[in-house]
Amino acid sequence: MSTQVPWAEVLLEAIRHASVSLPSDIVAGLQRALGAETSDLARLHLETILENERVARENGLPLCQDTGTPVFFVRAGVESSWLAAVEPSLLDVVRRATDSIPLRPSAIDPFAGRNVGNVGRGVPVIDWDLVPGAEITITYVAKGGGSENASALLLVPPDGGEPGVLRAVLAHVVRVAPRACPPVIIGVGIGGTTDLALRLAKRALIRPLGAHHADPAVAAFEDRLLDAVNRSGIGPMGLGGSCTALAVHADFACRHPASLPVGVALQCWADRRITVRIAADGAAEVVE
Ligand code: SF4
Repeated sequence: MSTQVPWAEVLLEAIRHASVSLPSDIVAGLQRALGAETSDLARLHLETILENERVARENGLPLCQDTGTPVFFVRAGVESSWLAAVEPSLLDVVRRATDSIPLRPSAIDPFAGRNVGNVGRGVPVIDWDLVPGAEITITYVAKGGGSENASALLLVPPDGGEPGVLRAVLAHVVRVAPRACPPVIIGVGIGGTTDLALRLAKRALIRPLGAHHADPAVAAFEDRLLDAVNRSGIGPMGLGGSCTALAVHADFACRHPASLPVGVALQCWADRRITVRIAADGAAEVVE
């Protein structure tokens, strides 16, 4: 048992929980999609996904053979005395989770071609965000490889405005969504620099399902894109139906006059994520 940090056991159990079950908002979203779906084949796929989730949860088994790349979104209070302990503790917990849940070893050294488990250079992915205060919030996401392959950076003509962004993202999503294990959640990061656009897209994915951006113009974009994607008819698992995406989460940053990068990040139906909050004294709790 790790005694390095007081939150290690809470985080390990949180990863276990996230690996064998879906968050309640995703389950509710899948149930809503099932209720609205008219295609028999699409209904069968949604029912199978929900049954798969129930069986995995009740038996404590990973709900997909692809247990994903471990990604941590860390909102770190700059006054916390635990900052230096966060990264080593995440590596330790991922090693233990890999052995005990178990998680599929999914990190490959691209030069050696060797599987290094789930901890190696750059993995787990840790996205740091420094914020005021002494609290640390860690959101764990298991990022499936199929949906990761559908992510992209689009360089949209800067004079096209919001309609140009919508057309480019829609064309990309329609092309790749069938291979991303839909229904998907679509993260879109508009503007900034190329790296920022993708980071915004990834961070948008961890919002509660369907939580609109606070800016009404961005929220309207989210609705338009979701409607357009679901009119494509791609459907659950790409075999036809009215639910290709459960939600679109968009965010934006100001851009250079000559540049309009748009990051697109897709998450599959197996949207395994969970958040742990660490107080100033190191006490930890799971938050939805
Ligand atoms: S993309 Fe998602 S649902 Fe598809 S195999 Fe990977 S983890 Fe499983």
